[in-house]
Order: sequence, then structure tokens, then C-alpha cells
Amino acid sequence: MTQLERQAWDVVVVGAGGAGLRAAIEAREQGARTAVICKSLFGKAHTVMAEGGIAASMGNVNSGDNWQVHFRDTMRGGKFLNQWRMAELHAREAPDRVWELETWGALFDRTPDGRISQRNFGGHEYPRLAHVGDRTGLELIRTLQQKIVSLQQEDFREFGDYEARIKVFQECTVTRVLKDEEDRVAGTFCYERESGRFFVLEAPAVVLATGGIGKSFKVTSNSWEYTGDGHALALLAGAPLLNMEFVQFHPTGMVWPPSVKGILVTESVRGDGGVLRNSDGKRFMFDYIPDVFKEKYAQSEEEGDRWYEDPDNNRRPPELLPRDEVARAINSEVKAGRGSPHGGVFLDVSTRMPAETIRRRLPSMYHQFKELADVDITAEAMEVGPTCHYVMGGIAVDSDTAATRDVPGLYAAGEVAGGMHGSNRLGGNSLSDLLVFGRRAGLYAAQYAIGFGEGTARPRPDSAQVDAAAAEALRPFSVEGPEPGEPEGRPPENPYTLHQELQQTMNDLVGIIRRAPEMEQALEKLAGLRVRARRAGVEGHRQFNPGWHLALDLRNMLLVSECVARAALERTESRGGHTREDCPAMEREWRRVNLLCRLTDVSGGLAPAGPPQGLIALARETTEPIRPDLLGLFEKEELVKYLAEEELH
Ligand code: FAD
Repeated sequence: MTQLERQAWDVVVVGAGGAGLRAAIEAREQGARTAVICKSLFGKAHTVMAEGGIAASMGNVNSGDNWQVHFRDTMRGGKFLNQWRMAELHAREAPDRVWELETWGALFDRTPDGRISQRNFGGHEYPRLAHVGDRTGLELIRTLQQKIVSLQQEDFREFGDYEARIKVFQECTVTRVLKDEEDRVAGTFCYERESGRFFVLEAPAVVLATGGIGKSFKVTSNSWEYTGDGHALALLAGAPLLNMEFVQFHPTGMVWPPSVKGILVTESVRGDGGVLRNSDGKRFMFDYIPDVFKEKYAQSEEEGDRWYEDPDNNRRPPELLPRDEVARAINSEVKAGRGSPHGGVFLDVSTRMPAETIRRRLPSMYHQFKELADVDITAEAMEVGPTCHYVMGGIAVDSDTAATRDVPGLYAAGEVAGGMHGSNRLGGNSLSDLLVFGRRAGLYAAQYAIGFGEGTARPRPDSAQVDAAAAEALRPFSVEGPEPGEPEGRPPENPYTLHQELQQTMNDLVGIIRRAPEMEQALEKLAGLRVRARRAGVEGHRQFNPGWHLALDLRNMLLVSECVARAALERTESRGGHTREDCPAMEREWRRVNLLCRLTDVSGGLAPAGPPQGLIALARETTEPIRPDLLGLFEKEELVKYLAEEELH
């Protein structure tokens, strides 16, 4: 039996981005002893990269805004596939979560009369994104960290120990959620990245807040942490994932130079007046307004331009359509031969705003292009193209409590959780999602954990599982001999090569425009890669060994990629972030269908011995009918475009 350090906590939060930190604060404030564990440095999560802002209907810039309008926009953006109760809670609670941040020390940009300023973003009817220049995520994370430090100071005063009730384990990775004999959550198996040391955090409740999956794709705005760990941890623990076919390709990533391809160009560039042009100099988005949005968007450049000054009497420009629409339009222009020299289109602010305003409102973009591409955005246009950005699919959760299905004690919040954004997320709705559902996950996880009380026996990780988790983590150091029928002396597989092949497969075959034969090919390739990943081997030792870390992350990326490909093949329609060239229409019948992915063999994760095969089983589930008072917020003519016949009655 492996002898490891074990520490006992009430709640373990996996991930220290916005969702994880907000969950941890709440759990600690409810009285739960809370551990936060993150694989990066504390403070370096995706949340810190968020630029544009946080959506909340405070109505500071346009008093017409309220939670009902925000709810409507979110449902329209998600093409009505959102878990409507999540969209409702999110729209209702987001303003309180933003106010709360200011009470904890955040300082957002102001309107001239001193209120929190709000900016325009795609798909939002009114200016709604509270922001700090284009560095909003940094302010959010800084504030949440500061709140955690203040709670630790309180604990020091009370117990003489800063970490008595909340402790951060940074640069540590969780590889398994552990359970007890009754199949309840009992803790996590973890390793310290620097030393390679294994340890166990025991707890009756675990909150997964690990973010997204972008590193399975070649061109992405996401950083090295986004390897779908939380998604895979949930699958391996026995919880299903929801609607994994919906992956968001942000329309504007950098396309040049190659070393920075995919890095995000924030939507605020368009929100603040930037326009998209093709190589003929044409503002092509006017040709791509879909019927469902025709009444809401300007039909001429003049009207679109007037909207920035007079939004009450004009309609918004089509550059501010939801992201899926803009990404597809750019893709079509490039395919039609009207792209920019490096395979994107032009995004121009230089002819729209004075240089000084650009530097003040978009400081990060100005520096990003100057330093990485030697482009001065105050004087010339940027070249941009779609980049894999966000996953709408994720762990299926209860809308109110963030509890996962079938695994008592397991919760999920933030990008790793599915449902809130339906088939397409609106910009700014992630930061608000993190705070609203991070808080809820922390609250309900704490209540569940504290419920075990003093006298009740807590779930304890079964030691066979701990041993198996340790053996699994050590496997890349002792790759087994060749498979039966394979030549002797075959060298181990290189994890970096496998990762590159996986990224290329997902990019080329399950990317922004999808076709059935290509997705079938992708599934075959993924099965083959999974067999090869059984033999992913590394040299050296356990002290900071990035090749080893990647070899472990491969299991997660392969599982999640299979979920995306399998669900994308199954959904024979186009909706939001899922575009099928062979099934181009959005089908009303499919609005009622959720696709759930489950692992067929929860013992493994890589691949059972034998021929290549899939590990994911799909099930269809009918969505819950939308509550009538929420449906009443829409015009009947609009609902007819989305809802199935029987729902309209
Ligand atoms: P993250 O912030 O990514 O945190 C994940 C955490 O999990 C990290 O601490 C990581 O180390 C940890 N982790 C992962 N796996 C493990 C493991 N196995 N073990 C231990 N720890 C683990 N959204 C908006 O609403 N507005 C914006 O303006 C905006 N701009 C964006 C700009 C960029 C460049 C990007 C990439 C995204 C942007 N988004 C924006 C999206 C938004 O930032 C993310 O969706 C959001 O930050 C995700 O937060 P999270 O808390 O779920 O995950």
C-alpha cells in the first residue's frame, strides 16, 4: 500500500480561477475548512487573461437594462439550448456579485457621474460589461485573492494559524477524484509539480473549477492549463458531461506571426467601434446577418455607425452579432479568397478612433500587437481569424446547487460546468457565471460537507484507489513492452508528438465547420492515439518534469476530445458553436435534445488493452420545458423560430 501524506479538509476546490476562488471564499464563510488546489501559480488562471469585462444588468449606462433583458439575450445567444434556470439565476444574481467585488476592493472604470461604467459587447442589447480597461480579469482575480488573504488574517487572529480554515496548494495537480466504498466523494489524489511528490486531500465535498479544454485544439486562445482535467475527472468519477459538441471559436484571434497564432483579440475592439473588412476593403458583416437577428441589427453602415452615439434610435452594427455568427462569416470570406495576407481578415480601429483613445481604452491590445506583431493598431488594421476559445459543454450540474449527477459530494462551477450558455456563450457572460455559480457551488458543497457533523462517519478514500492512482501517475516512467503482435524494442511514444497529432486532428476534423465523414475519421484517429498514449513514456525523474505532466494530461485531452467528436457527429443540425456543413439548418426538434457523455469503463481512462475503440457512450435526454413566465418575456414570433411545435402549445 502506498504511504502518502493525507490531510483532512471539509471542502477541496480544484482550480483557483474566478470560479474556484469564489467557491472557496463562500465555503470558508459558511464555516467549512477549505483547501484550494491549482496546477499553476496562485493568481495565474485563465480568469486573469479576461479582457473585455463582466456582464451584469446594472443599467448604469442605459436604464432600460434589467435581469429580464439579460436573460433574453443569454437565451438568444445560446439558441435556446441553455439550462434556462441557470440563465435565470445568472441574470438575476450577476449585479450583486459585481457590487460585492467592489465591497472587497475592486475598482471598475466609472461613468462621468461616478457609477460603474458598462461597455457594449456582441449579443448584449445594452451596454452591460463592467470593466477595468481591457484588464478586467486581473482586477477580478486580484480582488478575490485579496479577500482570501483577509480571511486568512481573520483566522490568524482567531487560531494563530493563517491556514487554519483556508489553504492554497499552488502548482499541484489533481489526477483523480477519490471515492469511498459507497461511491461518495472522499477526496482527491494530487501531485506537486515541482517535487513530483504525491499526496491526498481527504474531504467529503470536492468542487471542480478547472476551466476549459482549448489545448486539445491547435489554434487556441487558451494557455497550457486548459487540458480538460475537470471534465475528465468528472467522467472518471462517474458523472456525465452535457452537450460537449458546443465549442466556441472566437472570431478574432491573432493570425500572424505563427508563434502567436490564436492569441485573443478582445471583442471590446468591436464593442468600442472596430470594424471588420475583407481584402476588397468591404465591411462584409452586413452580408451575414441571419434571419433570426435581422430586426435587431443595422442594415447599413450609416445606421451602424450612428448607433455608437445614439443607441436608442438606431440598431447595432453586425460586427456585434454573437461570436458564432462572426466566426463563420470570417471563415467564409477567407474561403472565398477575400482574406488578408496571412489567412484572416482586417479588424480596424485606427480609422475609427483617435490614437490617444485607442491607447486608453485598449491598452493591452495596443501593446500585444506592438510587441508580438510589430503592428501599431492606432495607425493600421489588425489581421484576425477564428481561434478555439471556450467550451459551452461541460459537467452536467443541478442549476441551483452546482451538484453533479450520480456522484454525491461532487460539485462543478465555471467553464468546466455545462448548460448555462447553451450552444453559444455571449462575451462577458463567463466572468459573471464564475461568480454566480462559484458562490453557489461553495455554498452547497460546504452545507453538504458540514452535514457530516462531528458524530457522522466521513467518507474515507478507499486505499486500493489511492494505490491505483499512484500507479497510474507513475506509468509513464515504466512504459510496458510492445503490444501483442508489435515488434520488440519499439521505443515509447513521445507525449509531445501525441499532443501535436491530437491538436491537428481536432483542428482539422472537428473544428469550426464540421462534416460527418471527417468526424468519423477523427474518432478513428482518437482511438488510435489512445492506444499509443498507453505507451507515452518519459525519461528522467519526478522533479519538475513537463514531459511527465503532459503524458498525464493526455488522458484527459483524449477523453474530452472523444466527447466533442462523438456528440458533434450525433447532433445532425447547426446551432451556435456547432456548425455542420452537411446539416446547415437549426432544427427545432433538436432544441429539446441534450446529449450526455459517460465513460463506458470508469476503471481506465486511457484505453483497455486490445484494438482501438471508443470509451464514451452517448445518451439523449429531453430538456426540461422552459417555465411559462420566462417564456412570456419573448414575443411569440420569436419563439416560433426556436421552439418545437409541442412546446409552443
Ligand atoms: P480558470 O480561470 O482557467 O481557472 C482554472 C483553474 O484550474 C486554474 O487555477 C488551473 O491551474 C486549475 N486546474 C486545471 N486543471 C487542474 C488540475 N488537474 N489540478 C489542479 N488544478 C487544476 N470571459 C468573460 O466573461 N469576459 C472576458 O472579457 C473574457 N476574456 C477572455 C480572454 C481570454 C484571452 C480568454 C482565454 C478567456 C476570456 N474569457 C472571458 C473567458 C473566461 O476568462 C474563462 O472562461 C474563465 O476565466 C474561466 O474561469 P474558471 O474559473 O472556470 O477557470
